[in-house]
Amino acid sequence: MSVRHRAGSLEAVVNQVRWRNLAVTTGILILMLAAIAALVRFTQRAQRLARLQMEFIAGVSHELRTPLSVIRTAAHNLGDGIVSNTKQVQRYGTLIREEAERLTGIVEQVLRFASSKAGHPIGGREPASVESLFESALAATAGALAESRCVLEKRIEPGLPPILADPIALVHALQNLLINAAKYGAEGGWIGISAAMANGEASAVEIRVSDRGPGIPPDELGQIFDPFYRGKWALENQIHGTGLGLNLVKRIVEAHEGTVAVDSEPGKGTEFVLRIPAAPADRIDEFANSASRG
Ligand code: ADP
Repeated sequence: MSVRHRAGSLEAVVNQVRWRNLAVTTGILILMLAAIAALVRFTQRAQRLARLQMEFIAGVSHELRTPLSVIRTAAHNLGDGIVSNTKQVQRYGTLIREEAERLTGIVEQVLRFASSKAGHPIGGREPASVESLFESALAATAGALAESRCVLEKRIEPGLPPILADPIALVHALQNLLINAAKYGAEGGWIGISAAMANGEASAVEIRVSDRGPGIPPDELGQIFDPFYRGKWALENQIHGTGLGLNLVKRIVEAHEGTVAVDSEPGKGTEFVLRIPAAPADRIDEFANSASRG
């Protein structure tokens, strides 16, 4: 009686098993290598985040300490009667107000970041006119813009539809971009803010905040929207900041179902482009009725 394996000779069977084992071992090896690579990447990211968080804590403490000590010294001088003539008192008043505003700005930024991390970057949305959003953002940043001595150019395409927005959050995002333009782009002497209908199928409005400052180095472009990230130039020149501004802009815009992009060329300037969906037609009617009633 002769018995024959389905796969052929004994040698063929052994070969087949060997190849199968080799394939399984290779598969396991590849999986292990992928897991190790993922672990290394994850650890590197966690380390980077931990470093950025430490830098953030040091940065914020420093940011808080400076205005607080200015306020304390000013209050001391006023209280002790060291400053008494009206002009000087007024100057001290302005100084205390400016520093207190800076403190408020930092605290607001950190609180907003905390609530956006908790999953609430924005509140309820309603149709809002771009004109009124621009006005609020420009009023809130008037001090920083004046300090930068830049020419401000505002352009709004006529007939723009309202956008569906949480006005407070979106104004905060615009404020962050305008303050960055003033902080980093002042040497260019010009800051632009504009709005126009976006090209493409979906009805959306494109908002641009631009400056003619030093621009952002290409190797930093991929990181500027990360939380706590601060550019080399900002750190070297000790420009005030928490590294949360652009991350908040991104979170706020994305919560509006919009997008944010940056276009920057070293030496030429920087432009941030926000694309926000227009309010749907039924909400626009609602908006027009409430505007005519109000
Ligand atoms: P912060 O301004 O507190 O550092 P942001 O998140 O607002 O934090 O910005 C992150 C980094 O992006 C800044 O530190 C800076 O290096 C860079 N940046 C942002 N806006 C501009 C701009 N208009 N021009 C040049 N660099 C900018």
